[in-house]
Amino acid sequence: MTISISRTLNNNSSENEFKAAKVLESLPTRKPISQIIRDRVIAAGDPFFANDSIAHHISELEREELKKEIEVKLQSVFDSLVIDTANDHNTQETAKRVAKMYVDEVFKGRYHPMPKVTDFPNAKELDEIYTLGPISVRSACSHHFVPIVGQAWIGIVPSDRVIGISKFNRIVDWVMSRPHIQEEAAIMVADTIENLIKPKGLAFVIKAQHMCMTWRGVKEPETKMVNSIVRGSFRNDPYMKKEFFDLIRAHGFGD
Ligand SMILES: [Zn+2]
Repeated sequence: MTISISRTLNNNSSENEFKAAKVLESLPTRKPISQIIRDRVIAAGDPFFANDSIAHHISELEREELKKEIEVKLQSVFDSLVIDTANDHNTQETAKRVAKMYVDEVFKGRYHPMPKVTDFPNAKELDEIYTLGPISVRSACSHHFVPIVGQAWIGIVPSDRVIGISKFNRIVDWVMSRPHIQEEAAIMVADTIENLIKPKGLAFVIKAQHMCMTWRGVKEPETKMVNSIVRGSFRNDPYMKKEFFDLIRAHGFGD
């Protein structure tokens, strides 16, 4: 008798489990938001390296969801680092803070659209060199995810379109706010400016310190890396190139 009851119970429970499994199967399986975004980027044939912007594939709502997903994954990193985040008042919210910092601040150039830049006709037909700098550079190295901090200088010989000078700072900040290697970052900033205003001449110089060399590794505090991009009239005319470097030297480049 007892045996038969238990068999009935077992049968019932396995039947219930079967039903539950069926219900679960019929529910639409929700992929993680990162997977949904990744699929969209791949379908569009766009690259998504660390220094690529994928902002045009992410809605504002999805960005919030993405932060939550990153927070959960970062929490598991802290767990693997054997840090008692449940009781340590300093690290309790660190996963959340870091997720927000990545998406909205230090890597915002991947997840947030480019700041709005209005261009104007070059009414005075200015065709002399103008330079800007130093512009603060804050980025992170793709290899170690630690900061790159430095300065940049821009030289422009305008064509028929110009933009407000503060826009250059915003463009540099947006492009640099991604994990980078400095050489590629310089090219990306130059490309972005070139696409916007198609200048007759464009020069861009970055001088920066890499925390992966100062904080870890060789621990060399003084080394700085310098990259320069010269295009158009700056490349073709050695006197213009010299004038650019003379001008930025007067604005702190050589310090
Ligand atoms: Zn590095």
